[in-house]
Amino acid sequence: QAKQSGRNRWQFFSTELEAQVQERHQLEQYMHHALEHQMFEVFYQAKVDARTNTVIGLEALLRLKDRKGEFISPAVFIPFAEENGLIVPIGQMVMQQVFEHVHHWQQSGIELVVSINISVVQFKQPTFLESVHAALLQHNVKPEGIEFEITEGVLAKNSEESRAVLAELKALGLQISIDDFGTGYSSLSYLKRFPIDVLKIDQSFVRDMLTDASDAAIVEAIINLGRSLGLKLIAEGVETVDQAQALLAKGCHLMQGYHYCRPMPFKAICDYIQQASRF
Ligand code: C2E
Ligand code: MG
Ligand code: MG
Ligand code: MG
Repeated sequence: QAKQSGRNRWQFFSTELEAQVQERHQLEQYMHHALEHQMFEVFYQAKVDARTNTVIGLEALLRLKDRKGEFISPAVFIPFAEENGLIVPIGQMVMQQVFEHVHHWQQSGIELVVSINISVVQFKQPTFLESVHAALLQHNVKPEGIEFEITEGVLAKNSEESRAVLAELKALGLQISIDDFGTGYSSLSYLKRFPIDVLKIDQSFVRDMLTDASDAAIVEAIINLGRSLGLKLIAEGVETVDQAQALLAKGCHLMQGYHYCRPMPFKAICDYIQQASRF
């Protein structure tokens, strides 16, 4: 009896595992297909100075639709692409799309800083710096208009190599920000050793800062830390006017979140920028 049910359990798990392996295999195939057929699309979300309600920058956020036309979350396909290595060509493609758009904006006299999320895996490629340099030249983009968002994970391992790459990126003229700040495991000492421009306060702290005293304290601590180190600060995930006001009161005036703007396609963000400049 026991042996019998044990065997059934095993079969149950093995079928489930097989289904998972199958599903991942299909997603990988689909991502190859999507890369080949230019199905990935970069969306943009505005970054706003809440004191004046002006758009000061944009973040590029990658989008992919499945066969039914529904979006697959980047929270699913990006970590998967990091595991199977596809993040390298994907990251390259994102850079090409964004630089093309930035070139267009710079030609039109729109001076916004556009940020691109860079995966640790992409950052650690020996050819990474070279590819950035080549793309800047190819698209004739002013590097001051580009920011790279990296996570604390980039700074945690092989930190000497990372420091050198960041120094080179700074030398090229790009801005560097630390995304999801406060959620990583690295020591704070990197803040004095690495050439960093911006701290992005993670949205998990912003989400509950009005109801959770610990989150409010963390947000305040990050703002004070950033200010005393002379770094720019931006809060992500700002969804309500109350959150925006609380952040302003604490001394953080740059914000990003659904309260201001949802991520949208290139054409739509162009309209949004035009309207925003007529406030
Ligand atoms: P992230 O870089 O921290 O981006 C912020 C995420 O929060 C985005 O999710 C954005 O759509 C979402 N968001 C913005 N405002 C709000 C808000 O008010 N409330 C809430 N709840 N969410 C908000 P998204 O676009 O799904 O991207 C998820 C993550 O995937 C990104 O987190 C980033 O780590 C990664 N990712 C997206 N695009 C790229 C890319 O081109 N390259 C790489 N390497 N990673 C990317
Ligand atoms: Mg980001
Ligand atoms: Mg983030
Ligand atoms: Mg994130």
